[in-house]
Amino acid sequence: MIATLKAEEASQLQLVEREDIDDEEDLFESIDKLISAGINAGDVKKLQDAGIYTCNGLMMHTKKNLTGIKGLSEAKVDKICEAAEKIVNFGYITGSDALLRRKSVIRITTGSQSLDELLGGGIETSAITEAFGEFRSGKTQLAHTLCVSTQLPTNMRGGNGKVAYIDTEGTFRPDRIIPIAERFGMDPAAVLDNIVYARAYTYEHQYNLLLGLAAKMSGEQFRLLIVDSVIALFRVDFTGRGELAERQQKLAQMLSRLTKIAEEFNVAVYMTNQVIADPGGGVFISDPKKPAGGHVLAHAATIRLMFRKGKGEQRVCKVFDAPNLPEAEAVFQITPGGIADAKD
Ligand code: ATP
Ligand code: MG
Repeated sequence: MIATLKAEEASQLQLVEREDIDDEEDLFESIDKLISAGINAGDVKKLQDAGIYTCNGLMMHTKKNLTGIKGLSEAKVDKICEAAEKIVNFGYITGSDALLRRKSVIRITTGSQSLDELLGGGIETSAITEAFGEFRSGKTQLAHTLCVSTQLPTNMRGGNGKVAYIDTEGTFRPDRIIPIAERFGMDPAAVLDNIVYARAYTYEHQYNLLLGLAAKMSGEQFRLLIVDSVIALFRVDFTGRGELAERQQKLAQMLSRLTKIAEEFNVAVYMTNQVIADPGGGVFISDPKKPAGGHVLAHAATIRLMFRKGKGEQRVCKVFDAPNLPEAEAVFQITPGGIADAKD
């Protein structure tokens, strides 16, 4: 259980500097460093205008992508990449260094002990967690709870960071944040101030909002990015049968962007997905459903969770696919204070 904080402790809670914050900053190197490595400031600005704010982010783009940026010739791109490679090591590292890097991964509490246990401690940074399931199964409520718990200090199983929220369905409710913040003993106004929110209306808008995030995330410590839902606009914007291939290609592009954000900034990405009827689900299942988005989405998510309704306000979460978690279930409950353990 998460202890409720006393008022004076809570006032110190708002994104207090962590002791080990210096170590974390080594995780990404600002693109400005290229200037001292001999790259001209105008070219660095062109990269920033294209949404690239760190050397790590730069190395996640192909040269073809980079030469597509107006004003950057192939020769310039080569010079930029060469300089960036000297700043960030993107080659082989030892297994021990890989272990050290994994240690920077933080797990953020969901508000329910049993759900946290199922997830190996909570929602993981540097990874994409996908939640799919029937309507009212708690996907958006978990998003709201994470908006608050991410801001808790790490010794309280939070992420000590800000939150970005991309809402494609218009279901974000800032007033819901208030009782959840109170439940965790935090100042609701400060919690709301640490959430950057955008409503997306088209899949292109959704993609552009992601591009804009790099500038914010390289300037301040973010620990969570919510996309609720990841697929809704793609299903609206591409309706024709003949458009499926294009839809999947654009979806893949957007998911690749999400993966890069997660790894570049050590951010937990929590995305929700819709379910569709699965006629191939078998005659023994009364209402067979499967997640939307096909293989493209299946491969992008690090951890896939299936939500369903239980009795009353109870909800059940099942690990559907995860590299290092057993396929088990947890029961939780939706309360006025957000996601919590189920009361029998
Ligand atoms: P959809 O697929 O429609 O987006 P969802 O999985 O996102 O569904 P949520 O919106 O997370 O569903 O969950 C809705 C449920 O949360 C409702 O059943 C409602 O009972 C419960 N709920 C919402 N607010 C509260 C509250 N303040 N107190 C208790 N339960 C609440
Ligand atoms: Mg929802």
